[in-house]
Amino acid sequence: MKVAVLSGGVGGARFVRGLVDALDPADVTVIGNVGDDVEVLGLHVCPDLDSLLYALAGLNDEERGWGRAGETWHALETVSALGGEDWFRLGDLDLGLHLVRTSALRGGDPLSAVTARLAEALGVRATVLPATDDPLLTWIETAAGVFPFQEWFVARGHRDEVDGLRFEGEETAAPAPGALEAVAEAELLLIAPSNPHVSIWPILAVRALRVALADRRVPCIAVSPLIGGRAVKGPADRMLARLAGGTSPAHVAGCYEGLIDALIVDEADADDLDGLEVRPIVTQTLMTDSDARRRLAEAALTIAA
Ligand code: GDP
Ligand code: CA
Repeated sequence: MKVAVLSGGVGGARFVRGLVDALDPADVTVIGNVGDDVEVLGLHVCPDLDSLLYALAGLNDEERGWGRAGETWHALETVSALGGEDWFRLGDLDLGLHLVRTSALRGGDPLSAVTARLAEALGVRATVLPATDDPLLTWIETAAGVFPFQEWFVARGHRDEVDGLRFEGEETAAPAPGALEAVAEAELLLIAPSNPHVSIWPILAVRALRVALADRRVPCIAVSPLIGGRAVKGPADRMLARLAGGTSPAHVAGCYEGLIDALIVDEADADDLDGLEVRPIVTQTLMTDSDARRRLAEAALTIAA
């Protein structure tokens, strides 16, 4: 079965790893968020695409949740000692990838082409696409000011409550080559258990992608990133409470109005389905290990079959 999946970084990457274990990886196309991308020390960093590449290549650090296993930090220590920009954590192994990506982008290659080359070099058989090759930046509106995503998330530790979101470039961003084709050819569309507001909305901000999902002829299933109304990690629950008015499955589904046919929710949320207007699929959604990841992916695939 051919699937296309929209994904953010860590939560999404865990799920996508389960998908490629359950399917032929060649049948999986991941459309990843680029609204978090950031220029640090002259390097172009794509945190969500990198989480996907590292997870799919089996290079990710499972405990830390981001970056590479066996990472060291010598370059960053030097940066700090020299008074350089050190708020964004870049490990030595990770830096190698950013160097290659940045020089390729400087040479004029589009991000999608660079990402495809990185995936191939890492032995990743699934197709990993950025949502767009065009500039697209998530801005976070708070009482303390409006911040680019990583400044709010990393530098300020996402402590400011979010009043609103803006996706700079959304009017002009075109889907990356292959993204619309992947959606059109998919027999199943999936939205990973990523943060709806800051991981999935920036993908849907690419208008043609949102339209393609709205006009789908095959089912689209989202997986909730909340368990018992709480995020496994990060600010998704706080954002849903504030921006959507609650953290129930209905509030999660409300983030994808008109775009999904079913929502996979955790057993812990099975008694909280009031107001949910799409089909609920109740299962265990905590992806603690490879078996759990694969079971969750299979639950989505079984429903569609
Ligand atoms: P980011 O871009 O690195 O922030 O990652 P994502 O947006 O893709 O994923 C963050 C979301 O993943 C958070 O809201 C978590 O609640 C969710 N998440 C992480 N691990 C799990 C899990 O095992 N099960 C479920 N259901 N959600 C998870
Ligand atoms: Ca992210």
